[in-house]
Amino acid sequence: MVGELDSLSAVLDLIRTGEAKGRPDLQRVTGLGRGLISERVNQLLRSTIVVEGDLSASTGGRAARELELNAGGGVVLVYYAQLRHFLVGVTDLSGKVLASHHEICDFGMGPEHVLGLVEGRWHEMLAELGRSASDIWGIGVGVPAHSNFESGTFVDSPSLPANWSGYPLRRALSAKFDAPVWLETCDNVLALGALRTGVARRQSNFVYLTADLAVGCGIVSDGRVMRGAQGAAGNIGHITIGGDALCRCGRRGCLEAVAGGEALLREAEAAGRSRESRYFAERLDSGAALNIRDLAIGARQGDEISQQLVAMSGTTIGMALAATINVLNPAMVVADGCLPQLGDLFLASMREAIYRHSLPFVTRELAIVVVDQSDQTGLAGAAQMVLDEIFLPSCLAKWFETGRPTAAIHQG
Ligand SMILES: [Zn+2]
Repeated sequence: MVGELDSLSAVLDLIRTGEAKGRPDLQRVTGLGRGLISERVNQLLRSTIVVEGDLSASTGGRAARELELNAGGGVVLVYYAQLRHFLVGVTDLSGKVLASHHEICDFGMGPEHVLGLVEGRWHEMLAELGRSASDIWGIGVGVPAHSNFESGTFVDSPSLPANWSGYPLRRALSAKFDAPVWLETCDNVLALGALRTGVARRQSNFVYLTADLAVGCGIVSDGRVMRGAQGAAGNIGHITIGGDALCRCGRRGCLEAVAGGEALLREAEAAGRSRESRYFAERLDSGAALNIRDLAIGARQGDEISQQLVAMSGTTIGMALAATINVLNPAMVVADGCLPQLGDLFLASMREAIYRHSLPFVTRELAIVVVDQSDQTGLAGAAQMVLDEIFLPSCLAKWFETGRPTAAIHQG
């Protein structure tokens, strides 16, 4: 049975990824015999997970219809949560976003409030798309906290607001929608989204840095997201830099506490209050709350404090990245979040520090790419996470006969 599902899953994967379009391709890539391939394809056609599409170009024999995933055969619900806003969406079974919605919402309001909003949006979108609850094949969630991928629960860490602590997110959502649920920290969801559909889709080894109010990264090694033993890999923001700035993790001198967005705003405000920076003093006098964009404007207008803070942040983050690069030897660093958007001074400082503190042969072919697309990448990553899981042989075994993955696959 296991062998049958392995080959079924392998054939499905090749069709799903477009690597094989017909039975001859499948035979060639898998090395399996014609009869076996034919049997697996027929199983997939009967289940309607795979359908026959256009006629393929004839190569001498009778033209055959191309095989393709029946992308419209079901939908995936996705939710990408950030601390101050979220994005929800519905995708098809190829991960294509069919509908999405952005909403300002404080994650710290807790599960009842936040999930109430999210579920409401999902129901609206499903209704607009003419889909029903029985079309849902899975739910993918990116959370701004650490989570245990296997158990679908939160890991108690300083990034998790107290009112989410211990909340059984998988159990709650899977029971409501009768669908399997996977949750993953946002950094890893972003890395997966970039790997499958984004800027890193030709890469097997890369670091996806999010430098924003907080700082973290997702790591892809040998084509797989590295989660670590507790689901807490990628904590670049808590590398000790030095100094006595108190971090939200309770320690002092972490990268995030020194050079993250919150830290920069705190320093800028202090410089305004002490009148050390006339620019920030005027901003505060006008009654406006400072935001990261103010630092970019200040740096461009020649405010020295802005320039110092922006350069310090770029250099410090670059140094921490260099340590990461020396250890992991990635081919690419993707820099996302509001800090890389601060402009040339930040990026030049970050690059300079990366090259200064990394081994030359490790950075010889390193690509550093700046993006500003985390929300869309997050939605795509959340969908891909679900699709990866439901089509694994071990998971396929639990639902293939019934035609659709349901909450039951989390049992046993
Ligand atoms: Zn810390």
